[in-house]
Amino acid sequence: MREAAEQLKEMQVGKVLENEPLSNHTTMKIGGPADLFIEPSSVESLENAMKVIKEHHMKWRAIGRGSNLLVSDEGIEGAVIKLGKGLDSLEINGTEITVGAGFSLVSLSVQISKKGLAGLEFASGIPGSVGGAVYMNAGAHGSDISNILKKAYVLFEDGTFSWLNREEMEFSYRTSVLQKKRPGIVIQAVFELTEGNKEVITERMQQNKNYRKDTQPYNLPCAGSIFRNPLPHHAGRLVQEAGLKGHSIGGAQISEMHGNFIVNAGNGRAEDVLALIQHVKDTVLEKYGVEMETEVEIIGRK
Ligand code: FAD
Repeated sequence: MREAAEQLKEMQVGKVLENEPLSNHTTMKIGGPADLFIEPSSVESLENAMKVIKEHHMKWRAIGRGSNLLVSDEGIEGAVIKLGKGLDSLEINGTEITVGAGFSLVSLSVQISKKGLAGLEFASGIPGSVGGAVYMNAGAHGSDISNILKKAYVLFEDGTFSWLNREEMEFSYRTSVLQKKRPGIVIQAVFELTEGNKEVITERMQQNKNYRKDTQPYNLPCAGSIFRNPLPHHAGRLVQEAGLKGHSIGGAQISEMHGNFIVNAGNGRAEDVLALIQHVKDTVLEKYGVEMETEVEIIGRK
């Protein structure tokens, strides 16, 4: 690990840190250290970093803004590659935009709305990166990434790059082909938007924002929806009906505002959140016979 870190620092691939706590990089503010933490300064740096990672046979994982992650208290083995600054370019060509994976989805939706481009209003309150949103097929308010993505530029494990179009991304509810079938790192996305009226777009975004403020613990450390909706049921409603709102274990608490949000109520640990998730699963299964599946990704050493 030491040797790989030295090599990466010498190559000046960007930020390289050893034993960096992931609590600094997740919206839940939870997570032990990554053996190696890399924030590449460019696509070329990312490519070079991947070569070193492969050379040292290290495990790796890309992250964006850590808004859909629960990282274990024991941390992550191998390298965590954060796509942020350095991979956040933006090019606007009529209604088509080409954006780096490290770009914030919230900032993007605001910038785009000012240009009178419609299609990204749904994303104005999703605190992820463009790359994380493509990987997750993030969505809200009746739309998702699959509605606007034309293609994504992906770096695969074997070091090859390829553009995947919408069909090749195999999007479905909060899922894409990158999650299991074809692991890779999204580097850029091309979105096809439509011309719209600036005032109407801004108004729609404000309505979405107000709805979130009224219904979600927006200002507390959390990771969005903990469970996928077990269709036709609604995860939050099941948790609420089971009387679990406000229930806490250690520093983790089921939000009083929304049954599908677990907040870090102060010094929460991953083990607290995991215990609370298990408690919800057991209770809902027993009461309603419904199996709950997590939407938040649980990663790291067990
Ligand atoms: P991370 O959390 O960093 O990573 C999530 C997964 O994506 C990981 O598996 C990671 O390996 C992978 N990944 C990240 N970047 C890349 C990349 N460049 N290439 C390949 N894989 C990558 N989600 C919704 O869909 N709808 C919502 O309405 C919503 N509301 C939220 C509200 C709050 C308050 C919070 C905290 C979260 C919410 N989320 C919502 C969840 C989250 O914001 C999304 O899932 C988002 O897309 C995750 O992006 P990220 O950059 O934070 O990814």
